[in-house]
Amino acid sequence: MSTPTSSASSQQHIMGVYNRAPLAFERGRGSRLISTDGEEYLDCVAGIATDGLGHAHPVLVEALKTQGEKLWHVSNIYRIPEQEELADKLCAATFADAVFFTNSGTEAIECALKTARRYHVANGQPERVDIIGFDGSFHGRSYAAVNASGNASYLEGFGPRLPGYIQLPFGDFEALKAAIGPTTAGVIIEPVQGEGGARALSEAQLDELRAITRDAGVLLIYDEIQCGMGRTGKLFAYEWASDAAPDIMTVAKALGGGFPIGACLATAEAAKGMTVGVHGSTFGGNPLAMAVGKAAFDAINTPELLDNVKTVAGFFTQQLNGLKDRFPDVIVDIRGKGLLVGVKLIPNNREFMVLARDQKLLVAGGGDNCVRLLPALNLTLEEASEAIAKLEKACETARAKAAA
Ligand SMILES: *Cc1c(COP(=O)(O)O)cnc(C)c1O
Repeated sequence: MSTPTSSASSQQHIMGVYNRAPLAFERGRGSRLISTDGEEYLDCVAGIATDGLGHAHPVLVEALKTQGEKLWHVSNIYRIPEQEELADKLCAATFADAVFFTNSGTEAIECALKTARRYHVANGQPERVDIIGFDGSFHGRSYAAVNASGNASYLEGFGPRLPGYIQLPFGDFEALKAAIGPTTAGVIIEPVQGEGGARALSEAQLDELRAITRDAGVLLIYDEIQCGMGRTGKLFAYEWASDAAPDIMTVAKALGGGFPIGACLATAEAAKGMTVGVHGSTFGGNPLAMAVGKAAFDAINTPELLDNVKTVAGFFTQQLNGLKDRFPDVIVDIRGKGLLVGVKLIPNNREFMVLARDQKLLVAGGGDNCVRLLPALNLTLEEASEAIAKLEKACETARAKAAA
């Protein structure tokens, strides 16, 4: 064991898996973050679509404090009333009948994949094990999740790929029809891809996907970990389509408003193989997490907040397309849905993030050389226009740099 050379904190003992910005924060409120060196930033990352209500939302702070003084953790060997209440809320608001709570998105994915295979076991078809996913997807970092996403850079160096995972081009439903066969268990897809660069399926595509999977008797799994919980202006992105409810859905990120929570939702039919003893979690759904989750859910699932998402998203789309027209040498595409906005760039997206940071604006990276705007869902129009002004300055600098 080595000791740090100074009393100041260092990254010396942190595993080097992250490409971190040289920036740390001390506190936040709403969409404002104050760095440890006292600078104020406008936050359009929101913990990667996780702080759906911004930082230090008073309702969440209150829920955390109140529960923190009562009870944190007891284990799922007992009934947990707060868990039952949040499950009731999720099922009342969605297609689902049953919920399994986790601490992260990845664990919700694990539960979804297990649920799909167990469903076919319960139906007497244990040979149905294959999970079909799509290029550019992101489902997390466990072995099952990286195999479901199929992203080569996340699989590299971790031994053999798991059998039973197939990837197709995003949105290629002819290939999907051809790929579904007697060993298929289910299809997993993000209705709006997040990390992959904010690519959205159209409403017609969602309906078509539902029809294909229903006709084939395989389960449809939506990963709404990033695009769900109000991000697109509906509580869940699948609601934009007329008839596209899935059999299983994963939720996390904004579900806890910044507290680590995930959930796997399923219809009673799809969940029928998940019987006593087949799955579990120590922390998943504990009283502390559930108290915060209930407060976050109630604050997000309101017409006012969802309307705000649509209004601010409309403003962003219009303004960003204006920037694209004025800076065709910097911005080549605006994509995504709601407040999951992708800006595809000509300059390197990582370098552009630094230019935005110089303007005290935080944006996230994304696949396909995009930066993503994933602000809190309660971002105001004033804050949104401030973000646009900062982005415009970043575009000017990017243009000047390219000319130099
Ligand atoms: C973030 C994310 C995950 C993984 O969630 P973790 O909480 O990091 O485990 C899975 N799917 C999607 C779409 C995500 O955005």
